[in-house]
Amino acid sequence: MILLERQTSETQKMLEALVQRLPISHSKYTLYCEHLRRLQAGFAGEQFVDAKWLELDLPFPHYFLHDFQTMNDFGSTHQMDTVFLCPHFVLILEIKNITGKLSYDASFAQLTRTIADDTVEGMTDPFLQLERHVVWMKKLLQKERIDLPVLHAVVLATKNGILTKGFDGLPIFHVAGLRFYLQKWMERHQPRVRVDLLRFANLLLSLQTKLKKEVEVPFKEIVKGVLCPQCGSGQRLKYHYKKWICPRCGLVDRDALIRSLEEYRLLVGQQVTNRSFREFFGIDSPDLAYKLMQQLPLKAEGVKKHRKYWIKE
Ligand SMILES: [Zn+2]
Repeated sequence: MILLERQTSETQKMLEALVQRLPISHSKYTLYCEHLRRLQAGFAGEQFVDAKWLELDLPFPHYFLHDFQTMNDFGSTHQMDTVFLCPHFVLILEIKNITGKLSYDASFAQLTRTIADDTVEGMTDPFLQLERHVVWMKKLLQKERIDLPVLHAVVLATKNGILTKGFDGLPIFHVAGLRFYLQKWMERHQPRVRVDLLRFANLLLSLQTKLKKEVEVPFKEIVKGVLCPQCGSGQRLKYHYKKWICPRCGLVDRDALIRSLEEYRLLVGQQVTNRSFREFFGIDSPDLAYKLMQQLPLKAEGVKKHRKYWIKE
């Protein structure tokens, strides 16, 4: 049973909104695109592994928390790609969707990948991250007086990530090996029938906090206005007789307003004023802005000149 569903991260959504509003000539355009590409690949890999789990016929009660995020007592954060709970163990997975030849040096805590043109790239040590998560999880289990082993593994979502030297004996495998490893772990760890798994899973769920990753938005440099989703490259829609129309491709866009409000939320924030609305949506008339804002899920606060609006969640 999936207690926590995987969702597209706010950072990914934000970068998606950002790159379509940033001129290609902007100095950081490539940087943002590369960041977005990495997040999209990571997310696709995670979804691929999630789907593989569903193909396994698991004969016991079990719970999934995907993309579990929390903060420990010291204020540092934990982000676990998947937490799997079953009567045999708790399993924490780190999912990697990386291609190339992967090598690992434990003494340097260094993971590298070599791609086709022999470029070597350094990556964060996934085992160190996992060990932090394991320590946190063990402490919580101990506090709750639950006797359940905590296992961890790195799962590669693509067969184009080639494991080479340094990984011997470490819990890392391709997603195809999931069934085999589960079997092995279940044989090694007998089920704890008295453990109230659901209670513990719900406790974890209650500790879930959405962690914010800040990406700096070059607000002045982004293209303003309501953009055409068909044309791309910053093509603006025109507001004409209560309709948003693209002068280039002729699209009449019924979702234009609500979609642009979501882009506003991602790139600017929750708070809207008549002025900030006009600036972002590319509208000159305060009256028109007011009318359009009435059509949106906004909560008003204050009166007249001092009125502010909040985008409803
Ligand atoms: Zn268009």
